[in-house]
Amino acid sequence: MHDSCPVCGQDLVIELGFYWGAMYVGYAINVALIMILSLILFLGFPEASVYVYLAVIIPPIVVLVPFNFRFGRIGMVYFFGSIKYDPDYVPLNQEGAKKGDASASSN
Ligand SMILES: [Zn+2]
Repeated sequence: MHDSCPVCGQDLVIELGFYWGAMYVGYAINVALIMILSLILFLGFPEASVYVYLAVIIPPIVVLVPFNFRFGRIGMVYFFGSIKYDPDYVPLNQEGAKKGDASASSN
């Protein structure tokens, strides 16, 4: 993970140990996944044993660890990092920004 955004330079290390909280976001993602898969099994296959539940639920959790790791961090930044997305932001190192600076300095 970058320490700062390569496009706009936004500092992504909000504070020391900030991303420890991403574990809880990842935990919430896992709980949601478990509940969805359990509900599908419960409604679709009411006779299924606990081993079927384990066989259906555990592999997706293991396979989705990289996804969960990254989206846990993304969720942490969005929910607790107080970084807001600005669709009108123009990076300073791009052509359009130089034109904007030139017109701003002539005014
Ligand atoms: Zn950025």
